[in-house]
Amino acid sequence: MKKKRTLTEPFKIKMVEPLTITTEEFRAKRLREVGYNPFQLHSADVFIDLLTDSGTGAMSDRQWAGMMMADESYAGARSWLKLEEVVKELTGMPHILPTHQGRAAERILYGLLGGKGKLFISNTHFDTTRANIEFTGAEAIDLLPEEAHDLERDLPFKGNLDISKARQAIVARGAANVAAVIMTITNNSSGGQPVSIANLRAARALCDEFKLLLVIDGCRVAENSYFIKHREPGFENKTYEEIARETLRLGDAFIMSAKKDGLVNIGGLLAMKDDELNRKCTNLLIISEGFTTYGGLSGRDLEAMSIGLKEVFDPDYLHYRIKSTEYLGSHLKAKGIPVVWPIGGHAVYVDAGKLYSKIPTDQYPGQVLVCDLYTLGGIRCVEVGSVMFGAYDANKKLIPAKHELIRLAIPRRVYTQSHIDYVVDVFDDILDRRDQTKGLRISYEPPFLRHFTAQFEPV
Ligand SMILES: *Cc1c(COP(=O)(O)O)cnc(C)c1O
Repeated sequence: MKKKRTLTEPFKIKMVEPLTITTEEFRAKRLREVGYNPFQLHSADVFIDLLTDSGTGAMSDRQWAGMMMADESYAGARSWLKLEEVVKELTGMPHILPTHQGRAAERILYGLLGGKGKLFISNTHFDTTRANIEFTGAEAIDLLPEEAHDLERDLPFKGNLDISKARQAIVARGAANVAAVIMTITNNSSGGQPVSIANLRAARALCDEFKLLLVIDGCRVAENSYFIKHREPGFENKTYEEIARETLRLGDAFIMSAKKDGLVNIGGLLAMKDDELNRKCTNLLIISEGFTTYGGLSGRDLEAMSIGLKEVFDPDYLHYRIKSTEYLGSHLKAKGIPVVWPIGGHAVYVDAGKLYSKIPTDQYPGQVLVCDLYTLGGIRCVEVGSVMFGAYDANKKLIPAKHELIRLAIPRRVYTQSHIDYVVDVFDDILDRRDQTKGLRISYEPPFLRHFTAQFEPV
């Protein structure tokens, strides 16, 4: 048998961007200055930035070359026709609209489908999805299977929709009040966990039974296809692109933030089958985003996206992508760091509530861990716990989130294995000092989305 070989990046470096190396004293001072909220840091103060995988990826030489050759015509540009062809092939849908990012596609589609009294059902609505739905006065409910709430239980498709709960919700509300079923693949807000084709087919059958629209939020459709090929029986011999095509053909509409699996820094897509819905979406697109053949993007953005949407299905790339995320997660787990298991496609989630069990929930153990990772290692990430999802009761007492997590999101093709090894090493310091670290209290918070701008002070 061949000896196990180290995981290597399937690319080499042609252009470099220097990183700033700072001292622990400097970082402690910067953290005090920004009120212990790393969202407020300048990127130059950060060594390894794991805040998000959205729009932070590196483009290939082919994408950059494509940008130089792109067509900047207002209408009917060559770059658009090329992108349209790629997305038609991928989705099997006849109507393709470009948008400047995912949430613009959401605003257009959910703005038309939503409104007071309407219900949206999803495996989990991503936060911009929920915000765009609730902004119309409609309601958005997340229906994960019960077992997916167990953070450490090893199941292949923890991102699935609970079909029987969805059926109950449809029957209880009346199908006429249900605006759509939205399948988010992979399930971003639920640990980047995948959704199976079997579950998507069941969602399709449910929508057929009640004559409902099935929307696929497929911004990580390539990553999801990787998990299907390797975990779902019957897909072993299909290519990732074939699996993605099969997946998206189950939907009536498709929304994508191309800042993820489009392998670009900006861009989005909206696709659908229905002619009448397309006419309405097109009108809104022209009013707010731009003409139908550029939708708020430049020709070079469209060109880069058309190339990215092919590159992302390269088996060597996808193997590296999923395995390198898993590499970080399994090395942390081996050290005794509690991580959400199995590791998802784009990020590793650490259970800060468990790691910092001496810090009470109302002193935000997740935010403390985020701050410690910055101070000790210059690593930036985000809290996904009571700072992000907490609420207050009538006595201003914190109603905590379900879990106190932090998310280490991995930008695509940006960091090498030695960067990731460095992140793993910083966790040794975290473990060494975990009994000395202190909680935080909120000194300022805005009324909405407080994690972006809240200020903290040590308890
Ligand atoms: C990022 C994301 C969006 C929103 O896309 P933007 O390009 O950030 O506007 C929507 N849905 C999911 C699942 C996402 O991850």
